[in-house]
Amino acid sequence: MTNRTFTMIKPDATEKGHIGAILKIIDEAGFRIVAMKIILLSASKAGEFYEVHKERPFYGELVEFMSRGPITAAILEKDNAVDEFRKLIGATNPAQAADGTIRKLFAASISENAIHGSDSDENARIEGDFFFSKLEQF
Ligand code: ATP
Ligand code: MG
Repeated sequence: MTNRTFTMIKPDATEKGHIGAILKIIDEAGFRIVAMKIILLSASKAGEFYEVHKERPFYGELVEFMSRGPITAAILEKDNAVDEFRKLIGATNPAQAADGTIRKLFAASISENAIHGSDSDENARIEGDFFFSKLEQF
């Protein structure tokens, strides 16, 4: 499983109609889509997903944002997937994201930053399993 990561195209990018453009970049970067679905998270599910941040001052804002519209959840496969994907999406704050990264291209701010990428192999597996049953991961 170390060659897999998990991503979500966030509600801001969905609202702006960027799902197709973002998936094209992911595809052209050589990631294989192993599982994918568009879903609307409840506030409680969004809160559970980002539970690690629950003591942070931005937690309430983050939960509200992530549940305000549909997200596209996907499991992606590539050699060194977690690190390669974090490079492709760029820094959390789009003002600091490298040119050509997904956040540089599509994110508006540190809070509404277009896309999520897992930060470790272990979290990639936990997050993928949060959204997809074994039968849905190919
Ligand atoms: P993600 O986990 O979504 O891929 P990340 O790993 O780059 O993002 P984290 O530190 O895990 O960044 O923060 C999770 C999310 O919380 C960020 O993507 C962003 O939406 C929001 N966030 C992080 N820091 C702030 C902040 N200072 N103010 C507002 N929102 C923030
Ligand atoms: Mg993170």
